[in-house]
Amino acid sequence: MSVESIVQAVYLVAAVLFVLSLAGLSRQETARRGVLLGMTGMGLALVATIALALDRSERPVGVTAGLILLVLLVGATVGTWRARTVEMTQMPELIALLHSFVGAAAVLVGFGSYLSEPATSGADAGETVHLVEVFLGVLIGAVTFTGSVVAFGKLSARLRSSPLLLPGRNWLNLAALVACAGLLWWFLADGAAGLVPLLLMTVVALALGWHLVAAIGGGDMPVVVSMLNSYSGWAAAAAGFMLGNDLLIITGALVGSSGAILSYLMCKAMNRSFVSVILGGFGAETPAAAAGGPAEPGTYRETTALEVADRLTAARSVIVVPGYGMAVAKAQYPVADLVSRLTARGTTVRFGIHPVAGRLPGHMNVLLAEAKVPYDQVLGMDEINDDFPGTDVVLVIGANDTVNPAAQDDPASPIAGMPVLEVWRAREVVVFKRSMATGYAGVQNPLFFRENTAMLFGDAKEQVELIVQAL
Ligand code: NDP
Repeated sequence: MSVESIVQAVYLVAAVLFVLSLAGLSRQETARRGVLLGMTGMGLALVATIALALDRSERPVGVTAGLILLVLLVGATVGTWRARTVEMTQMPELIALLHSFVGAAAVLVGFGSYLSEPATSGADAGETVHLVEVFLGVLIGAVTFTGSVVAFGKLSARLRSSPLLLPGRNWLNLAALVACAGLLWWFLADGAAGLVPLLLMTVVALALGWHLVAAIGGGDMPVVVSMLNSYSGWAAAAAGFMLGNDLLIITGALVGSSGAILSYLMCKAMNRSFVSVILGGFGAETPAAAAGGPAEPGTYRETTALEVADRLTAARSVIVVPGYGMAVAKAQYPVADLVSRLTARGTTVRFGIHPVAGRLPGHMNVLLAEAKVPYDQVLGMDEINDDFPGTDVVLVIGANDTVNPAAQDDPASPIAGMPVLEVWRAREVVVFKRSMATGYAGVQNPLFFRENTAMLFGDAKEQVELIVQAL
């Protein structure tokens, strides 16, 4: 049996493992198994691809093996170091940066593929297909690359998160696409001297990716990250076509479509239209932390950890609504401790999780799983929203935009229409935060000024620990 056919068989096994991995990742209970299956698949894919590269190697096998080993070492060292040092709160920016690598790889593979198999004038059908693959691969890769770099810059606060609003920006995007279509025609017509249109298109696509994401701001960034995830998948699939690598095509398509599905679900969670995301210019109306935020609409009531402990002792049902602040404070461990103590006393305690709470999809679920909170206590927004009216106390721990009643009551609010956790319908609400500052979207939260709301100021972890002590 040839190396080639063994490699194809291994690719098939790896592809099946990737599908099973995605299936596993869709539920918390099976997520760990999903990750293991994905790792096994990726390990098999790497070994098979290296075996194939060595088998096809035109230079001495030792040199090729040495080169592969060198890049693997560099990549694995940097990757391991970053993965170990990154804070959970920096995850979205890391993901955005990793997407930019996929985009850059697709561009490089495209140029490599074109230069190593230069087209002849009067290309035949097979060659035309190859040229189209190269062109599309470089196009998607370049858009993904700069788009991800901008997303990284915005999420890590290296770039301003407010949207860049150029006049006629949708027309600019359209003009860039039309220019790319024209360059494709030139590229195909002039196969042998196609490097010029290919380079020109790369410049246009880099600018397009930059502009598409620069035009998006504020609370709409999460969808962009998952959309770029989808783009990076399609870029990988395009690279798979160029390299004739079936596994890369399958993997790219899996990432591309799952990223698109996730974007769609997030759009639904934020009440945004998917089409406007694809077109860019999304969230342009978001004022993103408008200077200082709007004026405070009334007075608020402050409370103490001792008082909250008293309320919790008397309560029969409690819902905990965590948000980005719980991640910042690393409060998940004392929160889990508090919940298990209350549960042991016979209080019904559950968590209500908003789909875009925190800074990446599933952020809160990961933190709570880390702190070993039982999965059946963790409910999604739709599962728990009707239960607030019968609840004695809601603890809002570092959440803000996701519990903002203005999303329902104020049609002029930048987050109007975004589904929110209706915590104010409970008997009492305690909001844990350090100040009266606004959340990610930069909008004032009328919840803080409601009669049944009390503010518990301070670091969420310290305050929860004080409550646990008092209990
Ligand atoms: P928000 O970002 O709206 O609010 C977080 C709150 O936590 C702030 O009000 C802050 O107030 C408080 N906080 C911060 N640090 C601490 C601390 N150490 N102790 C106590 N409180 C703290 O959070 P939500 O989770 O409610 O909403 C998420 C927002 O992020 C949404 O707008 C969403 O669209 C956006 N987003 C979501 C992503 C995702 O995929 N999930 C990705 C990117 C953005 P203070 O400073 O006063 O303490």
